Amino acid sequence: MPVPVAMPASAKTEARSNKVTRTGEMVVGIVGGIFGFLVGVFELFISGLGKVFGVAGAAGVAELSTLTFFASTVGIIAAAVVGMKPRLSGAFMILAAVLGLIGASMFYAIPAILLGVGGLLALIRKERPIETPMPPSPRASSYCMKCGKPWIYVPQYGKWYCETCKIYA
Ligand SMILES: [Zn+2]
Repeated sequence: MPVPVAMPASAKTEARSNKVTRTGEMVVGIVGGIFGFLVGVFELFISGLGKVFGVAGAAGVAELSTLTFFASTVGIIAAAVVGMKPRLSGAFMILAAVLGLIGASMFYAIPAILLGVGGLLALIRKERPIETPMPPSPRASSYCMKCGKPWIYVPQYGKWYCETCKIYA
């Protein structure tokens, strides 16, 4: 019988690295939020110009910019925590995109696309890819008791096999 092989120490770290990294969603969401802030600043600037020139509705634009800033803040915070709470973060990034579009209409198109893509990826992408179990590595001492040749691992049965003797361990 082959000696049962202990899990290699590296197995734990391998499993951790298999987890989907959320760097993409985080970067896209934060960049989208920063763009959103710029749109808010632009909105304030436009409303300021409007006031100077006495354009009707300029004050309304300033009020809407508050919503734009709020949406962008929500987007950035949601993107920042995407690694911890991907589903919730994704939902809030999409909410931020919608709020931003209400606040700045089509001026928010680019931030909304970035936040929307980040949010959708956070929602859709699987938490973990399907992990293929690694076969236990054979030990130098694991030889067939009949012929002394090393066992061959058969993944579909999860057993060790001797080709010469046609037997399982
Ligand atoms: Zn054998």
